[in-house]
Amino acid sequence: MAAAPDQASSICSHCDRAIPSSNLDLHFAHCSRNLEKCKICGDMVPKIHAEHHFLSTHAPVSCSLCSETMEREVLAVHKGENCPQRIVTCEYCEFPLPAIDLFEHQEVCGNRTELCELCSRYIRLRERDVHESRCNGITDNVAETSRNAREAEQDRGAPRCPNEFSKKRLLFTIAITGIAVLLGSLFYPKKAEHVQVH
Ligand SMILES: [Zn+2]
Ligand SMILES: [Zn+2]
Ligand SMILES: [Zn+2]
Ligand SMILES: [Zn+2]
Ligand SMILES: [Zn+2]
Repeated sequence: MAAAPDQASSICSHCDRAIPSSNLDLHFAHCSRNLEKCKICGDMVPKIHAEHHFLSTHAPVSCSLCSETMEREVLAVHKGENCPQRIVTCEYCEFPLPAIDLFEHQEVCGNRTELCELCSRYIRLRERDVHESRCNGITDNVAETSRNAREAEQDRGAPRCPNEFSKKRLLFTIAITGIAVLLGSLFYPKKAEHVQVH
């Protein structure tokens, strides 16, 4: 017979749950013999599973990437944001590598240079975003930029001739760069910079 909704109930002093009064004695005998309250989370746990409950819920765990021991609740955040061995991506070459190596790698990687298609200068990757937002495509302007370009040429050991482009070729290059920047801004919206094609 199903329990009547108006049946009086009492609170079991062992598990603090409401138990139909007619079942209380039987329940309490069973409850106090077989269950115990977890001291950490307060759940009622079968006594024979108490150790398993502790180990699977509360015991410290070690990160599979760096072996550091921590509470289970913080493991996901650790692996996602703090673990020195988690895999991150270089912002310049997009190579995946452990977070602990990122700073050193980017120091080197950001010093590499890349040809700016608009002004035909070699620009350090770490300065590329700023350069792209300022570059006006004129080959001879700021002294600092041409110094960078000279250093960059020395780095590469490859001289180049800015006049090798025909007008057609230059326009084509600008169009391709525009498309590349457009695509880039789709994938990396925070880096979206507008190349000024004037
Ligand atoms: Zn109980
Ligand atoms: Zn517990
Ligand atoms: Zn870790
Ligand atoms: Zn890199
Ligand atoms: Zn430029």
